[in-house]
Amino acid sequence: MTNAAAAPLPSSETLADLSEGEVLARIFPRLPGSDAQLLGPGDDAAVLRAPDGRFVVTTDMMIQGPDFRLAWSTPHDLGWKAAATNLSDVAAMGARPTALVVAIAAPPSTPIWVIEGIADGLRDGCEALAPGCGVVGGDLSASDALTLAVTAFGDLEGREPVLRSGARPGDVVALAGRLGDAGWGLSLLFRLGVDADGTPDAALAAALRERHPREVGAQLAPEPPIDRGPAAALAGATAMLDVSDGLAIDAGRLARASGVGIDFDSSALGGQVERALGGGEDHGLLATFPAGAPLPDGFRRLGIVTAESGVVLVDGTAHTQGGWDPYRGWDGAAG
Ligand SMILES: [Mg+2]
Repeated sequence: MTNAAAAPLPSSETLADLSEGEVLARIFPRLPGSDAQLLGPGDDAAVLRAPDGRFVVTTDMMIQGPDFRLAWSTPHDLGWKAAATNLSDVAAMGARPTALVVAIAAPPSTPIWVIEGIADGLRDGCEALAPGCGVVGGDLSASDALTLAVTAFGDLEGREPVLRSGARPGDVVALAGRLGDAGWGLSLLFRLGVDADGTPDAALAAALRERHPREVGAQLAPEPPIDRGPAAALAGATAMLDVSDGLAIDAGRLARASGVGIDFDSSALGGQVERALGGGEDHGLLATFPAGAPLPDGFRRLGIVTAESGVVLVDGTAHTQGGWDPYRGWDGAAG
């Protein structure tokens, strides 16, 4: 006999074994509180402070199959990523995230520790990326495919929102955050995180993550630079969005919304230009700033805004999307 307590094993209880109230009682203590909350979870709705008089709101879903594979992502990863992607869209408006509401639908056979892990990931993601932002409510339901639907709120703190449409010719194009890592991590998972039949494999994915922690980690649990959104707004950013689908695609969106062109310097895109231009899901912040204005900390110059409307260029030449596109291989099958 020893006095040391054994590490608790994950509970074998599933959602089917517990009432909704019992599940909520497991989740609530794990969730972060919000600095903006006047009333948190437990009533019909939460009540949030909105001192600006305006608030930013956005929503983003993650569905098993199209958006993630359970063999690759831990429950903690799923909660973290669901928080990160939503916080990133709030930050891309120049706002500070204040609160999330989270709806989860899961098969009744889902072990309760999976739901607890998602709650822990939501908490750790909020605490790491947007301290003071909390989970103030949500909903639980049953579904064949594990589904997380997050709605995020943000405070503009008296600033004007930074839209996609404000870039002007001559502005500097700059980025805060990573570029191409998450997309490369996904391509690694598709190539090497599957068994001989192409089925996602948890052990292979875990080994891959140990060998390539930067890229696979960026894909499964991204760390977008949330506080750089308000910093960009304060520094006079003329336009901004978060890079969710790849630098070239998202720069094209900003260019069309603003009626301008974006010309990237290949030398600023790192050694692997196509990987930088094509890889999605890093959720870095792409912003434009007036020429000559000092860039806020964390932003690096990638190029300039040109007058030709709606085009994306690299060193002055039109960019055509090339290389391997991992998203075409995403067949939506659950795994
Ligand atoms: Mg976005």
